[in-house]
Amino acid sequence: MGEKKKKIIKTIKVDVDKCNGCRACEVACSAFHAAPKYSSNNPARSRIRVIREPLKDIYVPVYAGEYAKAECMGRDKYTIDGKEYEECAFCRASCPSRDLFKEPDSGLPLKCDMCESDPQMEEPLCVQWCLNDALIYEEREEEVEEAVKTEDVEIGLASMVDKYGLQKVMETVARMSKKD
Ligand code: SF4
Ligand code: SF4
Repeated sequence: MGEKKKKIIKTIKVDVDKCNGCRACEVACSAFHAAPKYSSNNPARSRIRVIREPLKDIYVPVYAGEYAKAECMGRDKYTIDGKEYEECAFCRASCPSRDLFKEPDSGLPLKCDMCESDPQMEEPLCVQWCLNDALIYEEREEEVEEAVKTEDVEIGLASMVDKYGLQKVMETVARMSKKD
């Protein structure tokens, strides 16, 4: 058992009923993560995607989560209000079975960082831009077990190199670490 440590848990509560599918969150996120910052916007680079079904007035914002090296053994498929959605439509993972949450140029996985790359930011940008209050940011403090992080990082990096090749991963890391 590891030691207990206090940690701030950051949550974005999604109220699907308040989302009108305007996609301002996608625009804001992709612009924030552009290089240089705010130089362009392209929802395909966003770490939040809104699954839309305008005829049924259904809009579901989904955040990019962890990178998954392999597909799941099974698939999920949702039917909401009579509309059947594509397999894995609401999954957060960047995985080999689909193009969602992948950098369009490099194919490298995208993951929501809660905009932590900007220490001045009080609330994540997508939350600030959601004028309908469909996205609400909350923080709370919790005691958590200190996990062994190094191994996780190594395994994650090894998986990416395995899939995309060392050169591609190094180029992307270099590009991302360039100053704006
Ligand atoms: S900005 Fe808010 S209302 Fe607009 S699509 Fe995103 S979550 Fe929905
Ligand atoms: S919290 Fe920041 S990084 Fe995550 S989806 Fe929203 S704007 Fe993008």
